[in-house]
Amino acid sequence: MKIAVYPGSFDPVTFGHLDVIKRARKIVDLLYVAVTENPVKEPIFSVPERVELLKEVTRDIDGVKIDRFDGLLIHYANKINAEAIIRGLRAVSDFEYEFQMALTNRKLSDNIETIFMMPSESYSYLSSTMIKEIAKLGGDLSHFVPQVVIEKIKKKYKE
Ligand code: ADP
Repeated sequence: MKIAVYPGSFDPVTFGHLDVIKRARKIVDLLYVAVTENPVKEPIFSVPERVELLKEVTRDIDGVKIDRFDGLLIHYANKINAEAIIRGLRAVSDFEYEFQMALTNRKLSDNIETIFMMPSESYSYLSSTMIKEIAKLGGDLSHFVPQVVIEKIKKKYKE
């Protein structure tokens, strides 16, 4: 059984993330989508809230487990017996950071490969950061994130 982990902050999950999840599922039997804190990115949702949203939007996709992890990704990946780390690559701007992380992770744990997946071009410009900006300014998010995410964002901003 091929197991992989797709880590990220998923704050919030977008159609781009879902696209990567579906593509990754074609090459592995079990995909752990693992949420981690990323305080640098000024989160709108807590980790448990992000996990809950991911669970809702992946309910109909087989072979996907939603989880969270703290600490080193490599430790988590080894714990769940993952053979690969899945990451999404959108534009050249993603490359440098992803390249550095993939090679660092390889140094830390040589038994785990990083696999990059390209989303459909219609999602290749989408980022959670952009979603947060649009949400703050009250723009229409329906092209970018599932309806449940829009509802949760609206509720958040009312609070
Ligand atoms: P992180 O803080 O780890 O970058 P993100 O939730 O922003 O967390 O992204 C998680 C992963 O999903 C990253 O590999 C990122 O490149 C990828 N990703 C994010 N948005 C998209 C998208 N629109 N299309 C493809 N991959 C994406």
